[in-house]
Amino acid sequence: MFNKILIANRGEIACRIIRTARSMGITTVAVYSDADRHAQHVAIADESFYIGPSPARDSYLVVDKIIQAALESGAEAIHPGYGFLSENADLCGRCAAAGLVFIGPPAEAIAAMGCKSTAKTLMAAADVATVPGYHGDDQDPEVLKRAAAEIGYPVLLKAAAGGGGKGMRTVVDEGEFDAALASAMREAQASFNDNRMLIEKYLMQPRHIEIQVFCDAQDGAVHLFERDCSVQRRHQKVIEEAPAPGLAADIRERMGAAAIAAARAIDYRGAGTVEFLLDQRGAFFFMEMNTRLQVEHPVTEMITGQDLVEWQLRVAAGEPLPCGQQDLQIDGHAFEARIYAEDPERDFMPASGRLEQLLTPIESPHVRIDSGVIEGDEVSIYYDPMIAKLIVWDSDRERALARLQRALGDYRVGGVSTNVGFLYNLASSCAFRAGEVNTGFIDQHADEIFRRRPLDIDYAAPLAAAVLIRRRAEQSRRAAERSWEPNSPWYLTCGWGLPEPPLQVQVQGQQRSVAVAEAIDLTPAQSITTAAGFDLLTPDGFFRCAEVPPDFGCDRIAATTESFNAPMNGTLISLLCEPGAAVKAGDTLLVMEAMKMEHAMVAPCDGAVSEFYFIEGDRVEGGAILLMFEPT
Ligand code: ADP
Repeated sequence: MFNKILIANRGEIACRIIRTARSMGITTVAVYSDADRHAQHVAIADESFYIGPSPARDSYLVVDKIIQAALESGAEAIHPGYGFLSENADLCGRCAAAGLVFIGPPAEAIAAMGCKSTAKTLMAAADVATVPGYHGDDQDPEVLKRAAAEIGYPVLLKAAAGGGGKGMRTVVDEGEFDAALASAMREAQASFNDNRMLIEKYLMQPRHIEIQVFCDAQDGAVHLFERDCSVQRRHQKVIEEAPAPGLAADIRERMGAAAIAAARAIDYRGAGTVEFLLDQRGAFFFMEMNTRLQVEHPVTEMITGQDLVEWQLRVAAGEPLPCGQQDLQIDGHAFEARIYAEDPERDFMPASGRLEQLLTPIESPHVRIDSGVIEGDEVSIYYDPMIAKLIVWDSDRERALARLQRALGDYRVGGVSTNVGFLYNLASSCAFRAGEVNTGFIDQHADEIFRRRPLDIDYAAPLAAAVLIRRRAEQSRRAAERSWEPNSPWYLTCGWGLPEPPLQVQVQGQQRSVAVAEAIDLTPAQSITTAAGFDLLTPDGFFRCAEVPPDFGCDRIAATTESFNAPMNGTLISLLCEPGAAVKAGDTLLVMEAMKMEHAMVAPCDGAVSEFYFIEGDRVEGGAILLMFEPT
């Protein structure tokens, strides 16, 4: 095994590779540009090398600088991550010439798959079905137009050297062809310095399903099942999951076999992904092979229990695959949501700026966060605006999806607009819950996902109440910190005490009364303190709000349901009643451990727990809602 490797990348993927390398006792070398001087991947690596100005073409994309940093640092191998130079056959060849190991496939395999038309020709020869289309060298616009007519409209123009959805145009009929071709070629030229086009039959509402493959130098080849990456915006993935919902076992098996055949056809080695489109009748077609680790690899790790970066390192060091096909099984279900600094309301325009606030869900065996930033970091204009990947796992899709929703609800990013609210709405939509995914999903369900509603005070009032609750909790936490007895229950604001009276809030000058239980999730809103109260920024608009002091003279309305919050970060030790079973006032509902002490949560009156939101052993964050209680 290597003693030292260089990671020719940045952000979350550099951090993720460093984590595995470290666990294997391998020393890590990071590289960084001006913009990344204080980035996380630099902070956590054992060593780091400056490689130049912020624009990637002057630093992360310069093969010479990467090779030089590797040689100077004494690294034996280079891990390219994804993006940047990960599919660059030149870097791969230069590594070999410099006596360095490229942690990836051989240069020939990268070159073969690097051009979509060559790849498709190769796959057709290996008996793997491809989308009907034209992959020829003759790029005369008239030839291309005739090819499109033969394939039959609608067709999809794709840059042969493409990636990331660039240089791609759907053409519905011949009248649109010339203009679409010209614009796709311009974009391809600008993005890849290569304007060659291929044309494909445009499949209607297919699913994007890809197979993770792995090969070693000893002729071993396995697949680690599929990922469904159908949920896309602008032909780019947003939420991925494994396994693919509702995929028939025989299709899975045939796709796995086709993917292995594709890898074998090009003498593949290392991690690769074979992407397919699955049409509505269950036929699948090869789309492309990515000769690297994918962004969405964690969902495969979650359902197989394998560490794919460890596999990459072992295979690159000449070891055989850690296990065979018969040892691999699908366990449970996983989702990944890509958290981007972008504005979904403005066609997902990338955003940049300082992460003034970054609160993330607690990590556990169920919740994983792959991130390369911390609070206070800049999301720079120079690189991909992905802030983090949120990955969740549970024993089945329904449970995993509930975890995803909750974790998205716990994600708070301030200072930069993000897609968190959009992801939350998407994950909560009926169609997504039903697993009815296809590549047109976001467009088809835009009304539900974007929640287009009129400016509505009754909609804003529970949000305003939620802001107040959060502020009160924050105030008492600060008071507790300053006191001589920080753990005193007197500083707890909710959950442990008596039912809270309804909150009185003023929204746009109108007063509303909100029961605590109605205060809804704050994900879709941001609040800003003002002299008069606070402003609430929601996707539905901007609301001026203020707190109305409670009137202690009025009667309390009877509690309906009540939520119980964890008083501080801790671990759930035991749940002591069954959901739905009657309990008496004073009965212990659950016990948690925090700061080496046990805390019991008791029933405030007769009633029943309608739901526990965590299970025994879960780590919970202070303030997290642990259970819902219904008084009788
Ligand atoms: P890129 O390499 O730019 O990411 P891909 O070839 O992987 O492009 O395709 C990206 C997405 O575009 C696919 O996941 C799918 O949603 C859509 N797509 C690609 N080819 C077709 C096709 N022939 N018919 C319909 N949709 C397609």
